Amino acid sequence: MNDIPRPDAHQDLREALRSLCRQFDGKYWQEVDEARGYPEAFVNALTEAGWLAALIPQEYGGSGLGLAEASVIMEEINFCGGNAGSCHGQMYNMGTLLRHGSPEQKRQYLPGIASGQLRLQSMAVTEPTTGTDTTKLKTTAVRQGDRYVVNGQKVWISRIQHSDLMILLARTTPLADVRKKSEGMSIFIVDLHQAIGKGMEVRPIRNMVNHETNEVFFDNLEIPRENLIGEEGLGFKYILDGLNAERTLIAAECIGDAYWFIDRARRYASERVVFDRPIGRNQGVQFPIADAYIETEAANLMRFKACSLFDAGQPCGGEANMAKYLAAKASWEAANTCLQTHGGFGFACEYDVERKFRETRLYQVAPISTNLIYSYVAEHLLGLPRSF
Ligand SMILES: Cc1cc2nc3c(=O)[nH]c(=O)nc-3n(C[C@H](O)[C@H](O)[C@H](O)COP(=O)(O)OP(=O)(O)OC[C@H]3O[C@@H](n4cnc5c(N)ncnc54)[C@H](O)[C@@H]3O)c2cc1C
Repeated sequence: MNDIPRPDAHQDLREALRSLCRQFDGKYWQEVDEARGYPEAFVNALTEAGWLAALIPQEYGGSGLGLAEASVIMEEINFCGGNAGSCHGQMYNMGTLLRHGSPEQKRQYLPGIASGQLRLQSMAVTEPTTGTDTTKLKTTAVRQGDRYVVNGQKVWISRIQHSDLMILLARTTPLADVRKKSEGMSIFIVDLHQAIGKGMEVRPIRNMVNHETNEVFFDNLEIPRENLIGEEGLGFKYILDGLNAERTLIAAECIGDAYWFIDRARRYASERVVFDRPIGRNQGVQFPIADAYIETEAANLMRFKACSLFDAGQPCGGEANMAKYLAAKASWEAANTCLQTHGGFGFACEYDVERKFRETRLYQVAPISTNLIYSYVAEHLLGLPRSF
């Protein structure tokens, strides 16, 4: 069977990624999933090949590529059957440091991140009692001389156990004392080796996917003042600045998943014979696969539109959000179709379908849930009244 028709842009990059990803086949990902382990060997190989440093400028040892190329890297990992969720944080978290960090901070951390000596995989924003209503977060960082003292709690903070550094969002000025609720929050670099056990406690959350994520408790954690990124009080704005890249990279992962599901479905539908003919000859089986392909192709156009605007330095909030929405929807519908096409075999772990099905479901909720994208589009693009 020929390859599934996919966009031809960035063919060399795609080929290079595929040759790396081929070393980590379905069996590898099944074993990692079953052990609820971390794909250490895969992440190391990706780092050594320089792919996780794609967005880091060359002066800091990265390859200085654009978001379009970075998104192709994420897409190919998922298209090859892997899970970029194990390491995507590294791609977009360092953007915050790059855009808002001081020259000293960039010199201190970026070369290590580019070479793989340091991992910046984690970002701690979500809290158990405030959820999506981020500006009400309750974790505080209070300045005391040359340090900040942090108290509070976070939830769903991913990849802490496989990271050296974490970006933390905390309130530095009480909500009651700021003009706008988005003010008075700050971001910090937390050195996880210094913090864990000395004011920071981490408790893993067992969850539906093999996605290492945790509850985090802060009890008088001390962070040196020089670990503040940018200006005190502007942290929420800095986090928002990074979201367009994050949304677009996640959209690309969904696109990779969607093409994977479509490819698996069409192959199985062509080979599986029931009632003396391939099941794919039945329109009831082939039309949902065609539908999933159409939806994915359309989502992919929005993803590349978001990439090109971002890389040209243009505003792209609408496109990045819509790309994430369309791609997450396309991948979820493709997942459902793929599972249905496989019948009972879709549930067998050795086919990888059930694993990828669980993995792609996450994108409807994290890092942003679908309703919040509707809300963004309604308010910011369509001028509807603000609902919260
Ligand atoms: C596996 C996993 C990994 C994660 N990793 C990280 C991480 O590394 N760092 C981090 O900071 N966070 C992380 N998160 C958190 C994730 O970003 C949040 O779960 C997500 O943003 C939704 O927030 P919530 O769970 O608090 O849902 P809630 O805010 O409680 O919302 C619940 C539901 O209600 C809907 N809702 C809420 N308010 C409204 C409204 N006004 N209008 C319409 N609908 C509404 C939401 O869309 C959602 O569907 C992770 C989550 C998961 C599951």
